[in-house]
Amino acid sequence: MSAVTFNDVSRHFGAIKAVDAVSLDIAEGEFFAMLGPSGSGKTTCLRLIAGFERPTAGDIRIFAQPVQDLPPYKRNVNTVFQDYALFPHLNVRDNVAYALMIAGQGRRERYRAAQEALEMVQLAGYDLRKPSELSGGQRQRVALARALVNKPRVLLLDEPLGALDLKLREQMQEELKSLQRQLGITFVFVTHDQGEALSMADRVAVFDHGKIIQTGTPEDIYFRPEVPFVADFVGSSNVLPAALVAQLAGESRPASIRPERLILGAEGRIRARVTGLSFLGLATRVSLDAQGTRLTALLPQDAPRPAPGDEVGVGWNADDLHLMTAGAGA
Ligand code: ATP
Repeated sequence: MSAVTFNDVSRHFGAIKAVDAVSLDIAEGEFFAMLGPSGSGKTTCLRLIAGFERPTAGDIRIFAQPVQDLPPYKRNVNTVFQDYALFPHLNVRDNVAYALMIAGQGRRERYRAAQEALEMVQLAGYDLRKPSELSGGQRQRVALARALVNKPRVLLLDEPLGALDLKLREQMQEELKSLQRQLGITFVFVTHDQGEALSMADRVAVFDHGKIIQTGTPEDIYFRPEVPFVADFVGSSNVLPAALVAQLAGESRPASIRPERLILGAEGRIRARVTGLSFLGLATRVSLDAQGTRLTALLPQDAPRPAPGDEVGVGWNADDLHLMTAGAGA
């Protein structure tokens, strides 16, 4: 069953097309990421699902029900905001139980639900602390518990890990993913961080200028980008221009190839000059210039390394060259 469906949905603000004729279909229980640069329309899409915005055109359904006329609190959807939006004067338990209090639930019942939600996010025992007495990561968990307490069918997460440092962010990514699996709730996650989207989501929609450019599994998006914009945005892919691809593969279309799939050696399909080397820990990044086309190769640490200025052959397995349509950003 579909959890969220957009059919040609637009949200324009005057001349600004924040969301422009977007169609999408998010399955129940799916972890769906909306990925794109700043201003590409991700947050507006999330707000349209939550009901904080109304579409200028198009049809939005949540579990098959048209929601255009439903206010946010009737949508069975909750949002975790980037800034957490906790009440500073309430303790953790009352923050988490707040929605239940507004809904008129009795104290004992709502505290039991808050306790359960706090256990889910591994914050049992923090009930009586104020938000100011918590770390950033703990505040983030409280925000999550608060959004889960009334058991929404869809959880919307707007860059929820943006304020955390890298190590904590990686830990929370794993925890969020396992929580989502355990609860089976549909998660719609907005981020501009491609690593985050690829590591967590079942499917990723890549946004640009209010439109979805490509939707697919992380592997689709990473290895089989359909247009140069996706190849560029989702990591540092190499884009070979159409003229070069015409010589190599007989088709005048741009193509992408991931840096870790380039093979350097005496032989190769094209010649290139090494312009730089960077040590990255597990791998070495080699920058190359192939008659004006800049390429990047990632070599495993134990592979023989060329030196800057060397001329090398650059090869790849035919399967790793992915032909694209010219599309946006070409
Ligand atoms: P970010 O990652 O920076 O949050 P985003 O991809 O989530 O970006 P949106 O916040 O959806 O992008 O904004 C899309 C476009 O719509 C932007 O150009 C933004 O300035 C514009 N926009 C959003 N809300 C409004 C509004 N209330 N009034 C006018 N323009 C708006």
